[in-house]
Amino acid sequence: MILPAPPSPIQLLDLATEHAAMQPALDEALREVMTTAAFIQGPAVGQFAAELGEYLGGASVIPCANGTDALTLALMSLHLPAGAEVIVPAFTYVATLEAAALLGLRPVLVDVRPDTFNVDPAAVEAAITPRTGAIIVVHLFGQCADLEALRAISVRHGVALIEDNAQAIGATFQFANGETAFAGTVGEVGTTSFFPSKNLGAMGDGGALLTRDAARAVLLRQLTNHGQSQKYHHQHIGLNSRLDTLQAALLRVKLRHLPAATAARQAVAARYDAALAAVPGVVVPARDPRSSHVFHQYTLQITEAGSRDELQHFLKRCGVPTMIYYPLPVHAQPAYAYLGYRAGQFPVAEWLCGAVLSLPIHPLLTAEQQEYIVGLFGQL
Ligand SMILES: *Cc1c(COP(=O)(O)O)cnc(C)c1O
Repeated sequence: MILPAPPSPIQLLDLATEHAAMQPALDEALREVMTTAAFIQGPAVGQFAAELGEYLGGASVIPCANGTDALTLALMSLHLPAGAEVIVPAFTYVATLEAAALLGLRPVLVDVRPDTFNVDPAAVEAAITPRTGAIIVVHLFGQCADLEALRAISVRHGVALIEDNAQAIGATFQFANGETAFAGTVGEVGTTSFFPSKNLGAMGDGGALLTRDAARAVLLRQLTNHGQSQKYHHQHIGLNSRLDTLQAALLRVKLRHLPAATAARQAVAARYDAALAAVPGVVVPARDPRSSHVFHQYTLQITEAGSRDELQHFLKRCGVPTMIYYPLPVHAQPAYAYLGYRAGQFPVAEWLCGAVLSLPIHPLLTAEQQEYIVGLFGQL
């Protein structure tokens, strides 16, 4: 069989071309940081934090070194007793529970929903015990978890809600009372990541904490910088976890392009939905009408047992790269065997690991490339 070839090379992500479109501003940002040489805590860090906070509806933004540190710092700010339980989804990137485990807290896994991939609020509530110290929810692939139910559970049980918003920067959620909030600004603390492939990516590592509580913002800012209130005065045991001035300066430029990039991702997703919704054996990502979706990933479920890997291989041979987020549920990772979970305990997470396939979705994917990709599904 002669395999078809794409109209132009298809990439999962094309950061070089995205950056080329903003090259003069990036060059200028870089040059300014180099000439002023304020590499740590330079003015661009505070400027970027203020601009991102404004974009996110007025939340306080505390930059830090990466999204994993942000989760660690969020938990540190809660002053939980050793061994306290932290509820986390069974289907997520490992950093979500790694932070808890590193702090000597106990990750308690709960299953997710098969339609949205996000944590099942009923499972969260069922997992709450007198030892529960925090609930970490993840807005996976760019769509908000059920913040209505999760916020209510957090309030009802007096347990802090942390939002791991590494994948959904700029997404919004509408509550039944009419209030609309940005992902990451609803719980006690939100965290995000500026890892290069994230929707708002730096040119290296970066992360931030989000909060609406002024006192917590002060504490978090101290925790990112050795727990100091002023130079050489340490109130808390903190981390060295700061966002480089250089990354902040570059992120200021990229933030200006984020709304357009998000709209481009949403347009790509709408075209995939229209072309793939009726393909047998393929389930397109469910939309929660209360949440906007910023499509960090466009993730299908391939329902026929075992056919996902075959499809991925076929697409690859036709020049279409895809990814599996995530191939293993966290309870099957050797590092977390000590938690004592067994296969079969989180059936939805386990099913998804065998069924999900993420298609290329970046702001520069062209309509022609997409037509080619969806056309391949007709040849299955
Ligand atoms: C990327 C990511 C992180 C970690 O962010 P880093 O900046 O790479 O440390 C945490 N949680 C989720 C859900 C992520 O996607």
